[in-house]
Amino acid sequence: MSNQGEGPAIGIDLGTTYSCVAVWQHERVEIIVNDQGNRTTPSYVAFTPMERLVGDAAKNQVARNPTNSVFDVKRLIGRRFSDPLVQEDIKLWPFNVICGIDDKPMIVVNYKGEEKHFSAEEISSVVLRMMRETAEAYLGTTVKNAVVTVPAYFNNSQRKATKDAGGIAGLNVLRIINEPTAVAIAYGLDKIADNIGKSNVLIFDLGGGTADVSLLTIEKGVFEVKAVAGDTHLGGEDFDNRMVEHFVEIFKRLHKVDISGNSRALRRLRTACEKAKRILSSAIDTTIEVHSLYNGIDFFSTITRAKFAELNMDLFRKCIAIVDKCLTDANMDKSCVHVVVLSGGSSRIPKVLQLLQDFFDGKELCKSINPDEAVAYGAAVQAAILSGMRNDKLQNIVLLDVTPLSLGIKANRTEMSIVIPRNTATPTEKERLYTTAADNQTSLLFSVYEGERARACDNNLLGKFRLSDIPPAPRGVARIKVCFNIDTNGILNVSAKEITTGVMKNITITNDESRLPTEEIDRMVQDAETYKAEDDEHRKKVKAKDALENYTYNMRNTLNDEKISAKLSRKGKKKIKDAIQQVIEWLDGLQLVDSEEYADKLETLESICNPIIERIYR
Ligand code: AMP
Repeated sequence: MSNQGEGPAIGIDLGTTYSCVAVWQHERVEIIVNDQGNRTTPSYVAFTPMERLVGDAAKNQVARNPTNSVFDVKRLIGRRFSDPLVQEDIKLWPFNVICGIDDKPMIVVNYKGEEKHFSAEEISSVVLRMMRETAEAYLGTTVKNAVVTVPAYFNNSQRKATKDAGGIAGLNVLRIINEPTAVAIAYGLDKIADNIGKSNVLIFDLGGGTADVSLLTIEKGVFEVKAVAGDTHLGGEDFDNRMVEHFVEIFKRLHKVDISGNSRALRRLRTACEKAKRILSSAIDTTIEVHSLYNGIDFFSTITRAKFAELNMDLFRKCIAIVDKCLTDANMDKSCVHVVVLSGGSSRIPKVLQLLQDFFDGKELCKSINPDEAVAYGAAVQAAILSGMRNDKLQNIVLLDVTPLSLGIKANRTEMSIVIPRNTATPTEKERLYTTAADNQTSLLFSVYEGERARACDNNLLGKFRLSDIPPAPRGVARIKVCFNIDTNGILNVSAKEITTGVMKNITITNDESRLPTEEIDRMVQDAETYKAEDDEHRKKVKAKDALENYTYNMRNTLNDEKISAKLSRKGKKKIKDAIQQVIEWLDGLQLVDSEEYADKLETLESICNPIIERIYR
């Protein structure tokens, strides 16, 4: 796959709490800062009566608008509404999620006074579009192509939904790659594997809301996920909460008031705690200061790194238990791990680092790349390779995909008969022999599934086809060769051939099979364009209003300036004053109106005020 001549390709880490975008440029990866100057952007989308907000702007207004501020959609994407994990998450979210068509979860918000329903793909597409626009602003050119990352445990449906989100954002998703693989690429770990043959790499990813540990083996450019373990509700936010609980107790002791029921006070305290937590990763103590935290009481306190560690020790140990579980699942002793790599913002916490290093008997941990940027970094390297970029530093990496789930057919009525096991490097081709189940059976239905469950019906059905004209024979005599072939683009071709006669039938299952129908994607792309146009229109109105307000208030200040005022005639002053007053009243009594109306008002006001003011400078 190559896209040479189609502009730069970017790497996007679409995270649960934060997202990050990077590009390969000038022989290295550059992490791109957003419009706020931040290298990571909150994966938040908010809807207000006036506009749609994304990233920092959306996160900053959550407290004022909790039911219409959407976050954490990565926990929803590609899942069913009835999924127990989705049901658990819904209980924790301030925004509403309902069951849509085909058990699809739909997020309900109030936008511009109307109830709107959005799928997780649509919300994610808004974040992806923001990442794309961030890259476009930085690179000064349009960006079409991207590599997007997903957790290693994402199933086909979650991967496809993520790809759809990219499509809705107007991106051509070159490839969806595993987050731990991206981190390994970022560290160039394939090169270590080249030197020692095969290397075992443990990726420890501790973010804002999730803890993921993956064990990869890397050999000749093949990154194989051996095992993944994790906790979908363990991360930085839990550490923040522990500190909040601690300070609520201190506040109670000092001021005899319990603020645990006051959401505004808790929110302000949580923000201060998160800040303090970050500081404690480099300093050994810090202060917490929240002015007028409750009933006008200012809150000041201090916390040491040791106290923070003590408050969270059970959670930190849980993180290490996940590492242990991952190794057990992979049937590997910790001494066989060649490299331990850190990813996720919370992997900066010194106590976590120490526990991890102790677990690996003092082994040096790889942490030279910013842990909250490592995934996007690797995605950018992969994007550059896939877009056909040639460079000495890039050329050695040949990344091969592995099948995330086993592929097979339904046999013996219910059983999942695996033809290509999970984690097989692709491209690949595998065959298996089957036979008839009844005497004189002349046709066989082949149902192709992906998944790890023993019963085919519990797995994901990818497609069906029937092989007819099998010569009549007693059951078990006919020999039918089933061949599964996956090409470099991940396209699966399944064929069945009766050996004696050579009759054959096949089915092609593209990566896009069982994805959203094209019309549905087209509709979502259309909606995304509409919302973007509305957002642009809103910004135009705000800018025009701002210009009018600026002029009006500047003019009022000019009038209040005694030196200038003394030079104006009484009649001139009154004319300006009346005109300003009229505009201020007009502005106060209005919702946002068209930008032209503001421009007209400004022109009128300028035509009254400017000639009078200019007279005094003549
Ligand atoms: P991620 O999901 O990987 O972007 O990680 C975000 C989480 O990392 C948030 O909970 C942050 O508070 C946390 N984080 C970021 N920087 C630091 C730091 N220096 N020390 C501790 N936690 C941090």
